[in-house]
Formats: sequence, structure tokens, C-alpha cells
Amino acid sequence: MTSVREIRLKSRPRGLPTAENFEMATVDLPAPGAGEVQVKNLWMTVDPYMRGRMNDVKSYAPPFALGKVMDGGAIGEVTASNDPALKPGDLVQSGFGWREGFTAPAKSVQKLDPRGLPPQAFLGAAGMPGLTAYAGLLKVAALKDGDVVFVSGAAGAVGSMVVQIAKAKGHTVIGSAGGAEKVAFLKSIGADHAIDYKAEKDLSAALARVAPDGIDVYFDNVGGEHLEAALNSAKLFARFAICGMISMYNATEPPPGPRNLAQLIGKNIRMEGFIVSHHFGMMGQYAEELAGWVKSGKVTWKETVFEGIERAPDAFVGLFTGENLGKMLVKLA
Ligand code: NDP
Repeated sequence: MTSVREIRLKSRPRGLPTAENFEMATVDLPAPGAGEVQVKNLWMTVDPYMRGRMNDVKSYAPPFALGKVMDGGAIGEVTASNDPALKPGDLVQSGFGWREGFTAPAKSVQKLDPRGLPPQAFLGAAGMPGLTAYAGLLKVAALKDGDVVFVSGAAGAVGSMVVQIAKAKGHTVIGSAGGAEKVAFLKSIGADHAIDYKAEKDLSAALARVAPDGIDVYFDNVGGEHLEAALNSAKLFARFAICGMISMYNATEPPPGPRNLAQLIGKNIRMEGFIVSHHFGMMGQYAEELAGWVKSGKVTWKETVFEGIERAPDAFVGLFTGENLGKMLVKLA
């Protein structure tokens, strides 16, 4: 029997989550029964969508249960196996995050072949967030030659991949993020223009300044004022891939809609929301393109790492206060 620590949802937050909403517990893991494995988690991810799961509201992902361990993506190493498909030392990807380890059916985890990448990349650039950027640009926004692309939340996990994928495909890219360090990062990964939205009094004016002829594609990670600015700068037949609206996730009252939504009509804008799980079929194609871009140096990524399961709530809350550059991760071992 091995003891591990896990993070449980203690109470449902109102507004920005605080330490009081989480509690840590220690549990004993049973030895793996027939068809089971025991895994030591090396990395776990914190993602903005988990904020929605802290509410008691039905959505595309079920709410976390009060008093129960939370869950989410994790990368771990098999420490004991009672299944022929996996052996000790194998790397696996699972949905058993927010804990240091677990015992579970072998078929509930996926064996990971890191293909020369660091394993935690599969929680970021080479995993769900990277695919979100790829599918959102190629499938939802249907990128075409000459498009000017605007992306908000551009220095984060999804956004920084949007910037680089759009650049790798030859587009003009404008990214928005908060603060001088993030703006410098955006320039370093190839963005043609970077807007520090925290330093701008009028975001619409700032976007119009760097995109005087307008934008063809808006990749929305933020919503609110960013969406309004994108509508104001949209060209005729612009496409909006609505990926996330993080500016609203901690709202305690329903936020007002974009005041200029009617521009959809006159500008013939196509606005489409999407969830990456409906595009998992593109993973093979993405992995292949990504390998080429990594090799040629066209795509790279940053990670912000918090160490230890006890820091997981801080890492999670940091997503909403902008503490991360690139992918926010928790290193567990
Ligand atoms: P990030 O790595 O981008 O981290 C979140 C970032 O959001 C922060 O670093 C912060 O950057 C920014 N942010 C936080 N609050 C605000 C605010 N009020 N206004 C503007 N920016 C804010 O997270 P991800 O890349 O994982 O996710 C990005 C978006 O994509 C989220 O909206 C998420 O929900 C969505 N998403 C959607 C998926 C889908 O299937 N549709 C899949 C994955 C993610 P800054 O310092 O610049 O403010």
C-alpha cells in the first residue's frame, strides 16, 4: 500500500477561487487487482475549463463533486502492473490529475510515446491545448492565404500555439496579452504585432492601430472587450473561432453581451464556438505537422511550473491572474 496526497473540492467558489475552496487529503492506494495498474503522477495540468467544473452547473464537462478528488489531465509512470499491456516504467497519460498517484484499470489510461519530446509537452503544445489551436485555426476559422489573424490570450498555452501555427502557415498575426514580459514573448515567437491589453485604455483603438485594414480571423480566448474590439476591426466575411472567454469565468453576475454584435450582419461574419474534443480526429495530422515545425524551429513553447501537489490550487488560480507564460503545469515528482 502506498500513501498519496490528493486535492479535493471543499466548497464551490463565488468569483475567483481561493485556498478555502480546496482541501488536501492523504489516501492509501490499493495494490493493482487483475487488469489494473498503479501509477505515480509526474505532472498534472491546470486548465481554465476546470473553473466551470467547480460550479454546480451542467455543461460539456460534469461538475466536480464536493468533498471528492478533482480530476484532469496527468502524465505518470507505471509503478506496478497487473495487466499485460503495461509494465513498470511505462509512461501513461490519464484523466487522474490533482493527485500524486492512483490505482486504476489499465484501460482507463493511455500509454504515452513521447517521440523525443518532454512528457509534459503532451499536456500542452503537443496535447489538448496545441490541438485546440490547430483545429480552431484550420477547421473552425478555416484559415486561407493572406488572412490577418488576431488572437487574445496570446501568451498562454493555446494562444502561443495559435500565434506560431498561424505564422508557420504564413499569416500576419496580432496577439494580445497582459504585460510587457508577455508582449516581448509574443514578439520572440514571431507575432507581427503584440498588444499589451492592460496598458491600453481603448482596446478597439489599439487593434485598429496595428491592423489598419482590419482582421480576417479572430481566435477568441478571452471574450468581453477583446471580442468587441475584434468585431470593430473585422473585415467583410471575417471568421471568428470562439474558443474561450476567460474574462467571464469568475463573473458573479452574467456579463453583458458584446455591445456591437450587430456587426455580424453587415460584415457577414461567421462566428463559431467549438470544443476541442470534437476535433480529436485531427490529432494524427497535428502531431505530424508539429514534429516538422519543432524540427525546423518554427514552433517552440514555454512552461510555467509550480512544484508539488500542495501548489496545484495556486497554479490553477494563477491562470486567472495571468501568472503563467505558456502552459501552466504542476510538477508532482
Ligand atoms: P492560458 O495558458 O491562456 O492561461 C490563461 C490566461 O488567460 C492567463 O495567462 C491570462 O493571461 C489570461 N487571462 C486571465 N484572465 C483574463 C482576463 N480577465 N482578461 C484577459 N485575459 C485574461 O490558458 P489556456 O491556453 O489553457 O486556455 C486559453 C483559453 O482557451 C481559455 O479561455 C480556455 O477556456 C480556452 N480553451 C478552450 C478549449 C476548447 O475546447 N474550446 C480547450 C482549451 C482551452 P494575461 O496575463 O495575458 O491576461
